[in-house]
Amino acid sequence: MSQDIIDELLREDLRGRSPYGAPQLQVPVALNTNENSYPVPEQVVESITQAVAQVAAGLNRYPDREFSQLRDALAQYLSRTTAVPLNADQLWAGNGSNEVLLHLVQAFGGPGRSALGFTPAYSMHPIITRTAGTEWIDGLRGARPQDREADGETGSADFDLLVEHTAEQAREHDPSLIFLCSPNNPTGTSLCLEVITACYEAAPRAIIVVDEAYAEFARAGTPSAMTLLQGRPRLVVTRTLSKAFALAGGRLGYLAADPALVDALRLVRMPYHLSSLTQVLATTVLGYTDLMLGRVDEIKQQRDRIVAELTRLGYRPVPSDANFVLFGGIQDSPALWQALLDEGVLVRDVGLPGYLRVTAGTPAETDAFLAAMTRLGGPSERQQA
Ligand SMILES: *Cc1c(COP(=O)(O)O)cnc(C)c1O
Repeated sequence: MSQDIIDELLREDLRGRSPYGAPQLQVPVALNTNENSYPVPEQVVESITQAVAQVAAGLNRYPDREFSQLRDALAQYLSRTTAVPLNADQLWAGNGSNEVLLHLVQAFGGPGRSALGFTPAYSMHPIITRTAGTEWIDGLRGARPQDREADGETGSADFDLLVEHTAEQAREHDPSLIFLCSPNNPTGTSLCLEVITACYEAAPRAIIVVDEAYAEFARAGTPSAMTLLQGRPRLVVTRTLSKAFALAGGRLGYLAADPALVDALRLVRMPYHLSSLTQVLATTVLGYTDLMLGRVDEIKQQRDRIVAELTRLGYRPVPSDANFVLFGGIQDSPALWQALLDEGVLVRDVGLPGYLRVTAGTPAETDAFLAAMTRLGGPSERQQA
């Protein structure tokens, strides 16, 4: 009864839509949402506790609306790790990069405007776009027939974004925003920078958003889109503390862009959107960059181990610059997903037939996943079973 009333009152464009819904199951080995598997180190926990205690009495006051200290810390971190000099006025942050993405769509999208993205990519890009009343255009990945003939058949080329094909779609749709994701979730692969610059040139009225949530996990020598910011006022690069800094529960995402673009976001954010606790939490954790990036290196080793072992078992893992691996060559992905769950290992079925995605965990978690995969057998053994 009340369901009918609500369905009738809901915005027409939201009726029948499903909310974001990665299963949150209690399992011994959870490798399904690309979280950092390591708990926050003891030393960092102590610092967080002290920092929070220091601001607690002042919680009767609203926080610094411009989160100046945090912006300084983010600018320093990026300048140091990407070698691109950035100032605090080029930084913006929100409660997770999801909120930062929402700010972008609220400011540059809206009714009568569209955003272009290339599936499979981060499933939140279309959801955020649509909640802000913006039309979502699903672009095409993979080779055009003429590219295929030129390249011959290659394994994971179906997921590649090719420079000309991508730019062509950007030109044709002339959207207000273009979402690119590098390293891409769920495929794990980084974009070559030419795809980004070609989109930028092809869509002269678009804000180009490069989601770099997994940038810290990229293989050595992978360039960041941060290196393209200079002289490109419509380019935005988003990052998060959720993955590399093991802070998914802390909710802090950020972006780097031209100061004028950053300034425009102040029109759509809610006042005081970053709590004093969030600001001090994120600033404190950024003080442990070396420690946290050391953990990232350990996770990368487990990722590479997963790629090697799955290949040995006869599966087809996609080369990964992230803290997860998408692997193909699966006869029946829902069946393998369930069989792994029965073994206590939760991975993600991202809805690509023949593929599953697994997060690189601690060595023990990775052992558990690989042992379960070995017990369940490679593609040929599973077919005979
Ligand atoms: C995990 C993830 C994020 C992170 O979102 P937060 O809101 O910062 O936790 C952003 N983009 C992609 C592609 C992701 O996979």
